[in-house]
Amino acid sequence: MSFQVGSIDRTFRDELEMACNVDLDQCWECGKCTGGCTTAHNMDYTPRKIIQLIRIGAVKTLMSCNTPWVCVSCRLCVDRCPAGIDIPRIMDYLREKSLAIKDHGPGVDDIILFHKLLLEEVYKRGRVSETALALKFNMQTGQYFKDAGLGQKLLRKGKISPFSSKVRDLNKVRSFFKQEPDRREV
Ligand code: SF4
Ligand code: SF4
Repeated sequence: MSFQVGSIDRTFRDELEMACNVDLDQCWECGKCTGGCTTAHNMDYTPRKIIQLIRIGAVKTLMSCNTPWVCVSCRLCVDRCPAGIDIPRIMDYLREKSLAIKDHGPGVDDIILFHKLLLEEVYKRGRVSETALALKFNMQTGQYFKDAGLGQKLLRKGKISPFSSKVRDLNKVRSFFKQEPDRREV
């Protein structure tokens, strides 16, 4: 990736900084966020690199990488950051923006589908049925028998259930959703 100093488009960065209430000039590039990140080993770009990509306006890379979708919002990076930069909020913002585009990088579309199916389960029942989630995901990604062997073992040991149950006060859970999960895309 090459770029010239002075030719950087700041539009995306400015909008992100305002929406997330962060000032990326405060980043020291110390890497403490990445050092403490729970899932950095699975990310295309570590949290520190994500900050750099935003600074250089690499929007296409930001929209197609798996990092925002692999972040689990544990906030360890925020605790470690000497500048207090809210990286999970930035990851939220990147997820929102990247939902608007159609084709993501390799594997990212599957992660997005998994997020949507998980939210759909929470909306429907107030909790997640691992069996239903795995079945739906595998069916929709054409991996019909992927977890069949493992699923049988888990069922036999009582670790998962073939039945799905709902929480008592489903409306309370649903009140956390601003809108019903979009089923048209899942
Ligand atoms: S909130 Fe996300 S980026 Fe920060 S440490 Fe946790 S997983 Fe890593
Ligand atoms: S810990 Fe904070 S200051 Fe250090 S690289 Fe990460 S975001 Fe930048």
